[in-house]
Amino acid sequence: MRWSEFPKWGKWAADWAAQYHAGLRDRPVRAQTKPGEVMAQLPAAPPDAPQPIEDIVADFEAIVMPGITHWQHPRFFAYFPSNASPAAVLADNLVTAMAPQCMLWQTSPAATEMETRMMDWLRQSLGLPTGFSGVIQDSASSATLAAVLVMRERALGWDGNANGLPGQKTLRIYCSNEVHTSVDRAIWIAGIGQANLVRIPTQGPLRSMDTEALDAAIEADLQAGYLPAGVIACTGGTGTGACDDLTATIAVAKKYDLYTHVDAAWAGSAMICPEYRDLWTGVEKADSIVFNPHKWLGTQFDLSAHFVKSPEDLTRTLAIQPEYLKTHGADGIINYSEWSVPLGRRFRALKLWFLIRAYGLDGLRQMIRNHVTWSQALAERLRSVPDIEIVTDPVLSLFTFRWMPQGHDADDATLALINAINDDGRIYLTQTRTGGKLVIRFQAGQFDCTQDDIDTAFDVIVETANRLKDA
Ligand SMILES: *Cc1c(COP(=O)(O)O)cnc(C)c1O
Repeated sequence: MRWSEFPKWGKWAADWAAQYHAGLRDRPVRAQTKPGEVMAQLPAAPPDAPQPIEDIVADFEAIVMPGITHWQHPRFFAYFPSNASPAAVLADNLVTAMAPQCMLWQTSPAATEMETRMMDWLRQSLGLPTGFSGVIQDSASSATLAAVLVMRERALGWDGNANGLPGQKTLRIYCSNEVHTSVDRAIWIAGIGQANLVRIPTQGPLRSMDTEALDAAIEADLQAGYLPAGVIACTGGTGTGACDDLTATIAVAKKYDLYTHVDAAWAGSAMICPEYRDLWTGVEKADSIVFNPHKWLGTQFDLSAHFVKSPEDLTRTLAIQPEYLKTHGADGIINYSEWSVPLGRRFRALKLWFLIRAYGLDGLRQMIRNHVTWSQALAERLRSVPDIEIVTDPVLSLFTFRWMPQGHDADDATLALINAINDDGRIYLTQTRTGGKLVIRFQAGQFDCTQDDIDTAFDVIVETANRLKDA
């Protein structure tokens, strides 16, 4: 294929995308494929001769599409959203056509300067004070890894990269059981070890870290000769939306001069609405904050916003400058690859620029407010359905419930219900475990979701439960 043929196929792809989105409600949300079904249709060996694009796109429809789970489906209520707004998709199409490598300022000055400006737009949108600098990471996992590496280097007097961990005191990092597994993996990769990720018990309706227990754990570790390095808090934990009390948690961390990182990967997007900010009161005291515009906001994967008080701590941990990466003759520039673990970086800021301009903060706020309002109303409707128990109340647009028909084990019944719902295909839900109970998670967050889609969710849940009970 030549660029001269691109207009034809580019138009085909644009039409395809618009039709795909318009027809999503007619497709089952979750792929109904069996393991191995797609692979069986893919030739075992690559072709030697070129093949016509016509054939490739026909196979794309026939082989690939049935094996796709539709994350952009308005009735995708599983996991968390992974929204792709058309304006951001358009921006990414432009980026893909140029495919610039934006590791340094000089490798595309527009990308770096756009990133600085967009991250400051986001900072203002979330109501964070000046004094935070932002960088776009590929994912929240990478941002959390970078923060854990800063914790390590800072605690070791910036000696870990040079001399490794042998001979050093054992580092300790603190969090609750509600944080995402990306925290565990960051601890592994940083060489700190799972055994040194200290789990603090949670309490209260938001399942927040018990800060007295946190204080006692740090004190005990100091007595025992450990080296406390940092605290990781969450706003909107993945399972049930747990929120730590950031004011109290960060106060304890500061008492021991520990670095603090707040993971608000999902819930951070909602902070563009001032009325939800009480969920993270005190966040301005944190050293590092991550949230994912690629979840709720509409800049399709990947685009994770990482704010830090001290970029110097980050670059002291991660910057490395062989001669071939030096930028001579330009002072005061930012090379964002020095702020992250990977060197190479895509031009991600462009899709933020398109998104925020195309919908305005008001448009995005309205979307999030709708999701929260509708989801809370659905929880209330389900609460009055016999045999259904709301297990965790809505945190923003996320709540959990279980099904307890008489004479059945609640975990077994709940699992049977979710499987039957997902086989039906009209909606898609996922499960988690909280307080030892198997529960179904519901979250509303898809870009095109409407009140009708939420009503369909209610109908599917109740119809399916009745059908299973009669069976
Ligand atoms: C989704 C999520 C993550 C992981 O995000 P990635 O960008 O996929 O790495 C981390 N923490 C929380 C709270 C999340 O919801």
